[in-house]
Amino acid sequence: MIHPDEALALIEALEFAPAIEKVPLASALGRVMARALESPVDQPPFDKSAMDGFAHPLPAGATGEFRVAGTIAAGGVPRAPLVPGECVRIMTGAPLPAGTGSVQRVEWTEESGPGLVRFTKPEKVDNIIRRGENVRAGDTIMTPRRLRAQDLGIIAAAGYAELPVARRPVVGVISTGDELRSAGEALAPGAIYDSNGPQLAAHAEAAGARAIFYGRVADREDALERMARTALSECDVVVLSGGVSMGDYDYVPAVLEALGVERLFHGVLMKPGKPTWFGRSANRFVLGMPGNPVSTFVNFEFFGKPLLARLQGIRYEPPVLPLRLAHDLSRKSADRVEWFPARREGALVRALPYSGSSMLQALEKADCLVRLEIGEKFRGAGSEIDARLL
Ligand code: AMP
Ligand code: MG
Repeated sequence: MIHPDEALALIEALEFAPAIEKVPLASALGRVMARALESPVDQPPFDKSAMDGFAHPLPAGATGEFRVAGTIAAGGVPRAPLVPGECVRIMTGAPLPAGTGSVQRVEWTEESGPGLVRFTKPEKVDNIIRRGENVRAGDTIMTPRRLRAQDLGIIAAAGYAELPVARRPVVGVISTGDELRSAGEALAPGAIYDSNGPQLAAHAEAAGARAIFYGRVADREDALERMARTALSECDVVVLSGGVSMGDYDYVPAVLEALGVERLFHGVLMKPGKPTWFGRSANRFVLGMPGNPVSTFVNFEFFGKPLLARLQGIRYEPPVLPLRLAHDLSRKSADRVEWFPARREGALVRALPYSGSSMLQALEKADCLVRLEIGEKFRGAGSEIDARLL
């Protein structure tokens, strides 16, 4: 049995040079950018006005009257340098004519005669955005990461139409269990619907992978072996649920080892998720998770996401908020790290009613997970606790 942080460290230590492909910017959301990017251009590429108003030769704070020599719109080109006593009407984002000292906003001006403008209130700042003020050519604009909307904006601003990203890992999902039926089928006595299959496939997709759901397989060694062999030949990661515990029909570990998958750990001091099995076959990985659905969820959060990140050349940094417990959190046995589905209430966090890892419905209200450490039976109301956001 291994401590979950130690198990995670094994995953984090995997070194990977992911396959790279180029994708258009419009397809890059959620993809992992493989290398740092520099801006080939100054941003902005020219000195520009931060205001609709009048560009004039004096520094900020000028008052008095100026002759209006023309208009420059955004995208326009200044015709001539400014001379003393003269200004140009200028729009936000338009390039400044040579000789500009500052820009007077239009709200603080009035027309004082034909072709004349008077400044009615002095500006405190020059209202100029300087060439390269945002970014200079050659600056690193983005380090490797999973791309968000704002990242795509930054990359687009540097003029990239496409960019190098890691190939999406392919995750194969297999649900083991004689008792399982698929949604839409009738429930025979003793049967339940397979929730892990759809959940794990969605969880993998949400983490940036492409998921293949192989369906459910009976608790029979030959059937399981056939399906696992196919999945291993087609996927970067195979995630199985069920069949890793000590039951008479828990064939997953034996089948994986028979298929030549090298076991890296089996058994984690974690609740839920104690029987979790993790192994490797060349550059392919297998996560065997216990079947209870909260278990597969927590497992995927804790092990699956970091694994997918490593396969794409980055590290997963879970969003964690230090909050305070809204109530005492206690348990009888403290021999494992234990995760509790919880919900934020402002700066507090409240564990949700939860009787164990079969209670999938607890995740409906959960927006985070909190954990107690090995040896820790109790944490009191008001204590600090890390909420791992979902
Ligand atoms: P196992 O890990 O195979 O011993 O299963 C533990 C518990 O999880 C049992 O109650 C199973 O019926 C349940 N379970 C296993 N697989 C699934 C699944 N795909 N969807 C929902 N529940 C499952
Ligand atoms: Mg089972």
